[in-house]
Amino acid sequence: MAKISYVDGFYLHHKDSKIHIDDRGYHFGDAVYEVIIFNEGIFFDYNEHIKRLLRSLKSLDIELPISTNSLKIIINNVIKKNRIVFGSVYIQVSRGVAQRNHSYKNLTLKPIIIISTTEKNKDYLNNFVGVSAITLNDNRWARPDIKTTQLLPNILAKTIADKKSAYEAIFIDQYDYITEGSSSNIWIVNYDNQLITRNLDGQILSGITRNSVKKCAMKNNIKVLERKFSKHELLTAKEVFLTSATSFVTPIVKIDNSSINNGLIGELSCSLRELYLKAMKSSN
Ligand code: PMP
Repeated sequence: MAKISYVDGFYLHHKDSKIHIDDRGYHFGDAVYEVIIFNEGIFFDYNEHIKRLLRSLKSLDIELPISTNSLKIIINNVIKKNRIVFGSVYIQVSRGVAQRNHSYKNLTLKPIIIISTTEKNKDYLNNFVGVSAITLNDNRWARPDIKTTQLLPNILAKTIADKKSAYEAIFIDQYDYITEGSSSNIWIVNYDNQLITRNLDGQILSGITRNSVKKCAMKNNIKVLERKFSKHELLTAKEVFLTSATSFVTPIVKIDNSSINNGLIGELSCSLRELYLKAMKSSN
């Protein structure tokens, strides 16, 4: 079946889904995005993702050109047209099309929305493995809290990890504290079975999955400490896992040359993954 995407007001076949060469998203990464998982008509944390999209847009002084109700209708249309039951939806909003010029002052721009969807295999939910990660210096810009499409440091880091057969690259700040993964938030479990993840200090993205996992943990009387933690704490933790919309809760069992939990998936990581997926079954 032909893949259908939404591009600036039109539902188009994949081969015709094109953006103008003067789109500022293309020129400058002047665009924001979200990725949302859905399964059998249920979106995982839909409202939270849309709230973050609006926050990112506001931070960049871009206005969503349609209502959030219309956005939801378009998203549902794209999913229906592609007849996907379980998958992800990608939403991107760029500032618009204009002759290349850094400043956007005095430009009358219509933000460009694109929406596409990708099918995922059902096994993706059930079969999970412990993954490995590498650590790298965090060399991103000073606003990683905004979900922009300018992801060069992230894609370079992920590629370095990939070349070393690792699943994720974990960024370390200049003081030797963990910030986050190239496309995930990082958590550790200490020997008191408490969860530790970096606080929202502007140096990480406020992960939607991070927040849902935090809520699941708290509901189940698992203590969550939001604070910085060092590379040493990471490497000597009882368990380490990452969270993201597309990886849910994924245990990390090896970092650089150190095994975590003897290379085995930890108990708490495992139960948090189950709790998270259970919570998402009744999400919105
Ligand atoms: N940090 C970064 C840098 C990311 O790219 C992502 C994935 N979007 C996350 C954290 C996790 O965020 P979420 O749980 O909202 O997918």
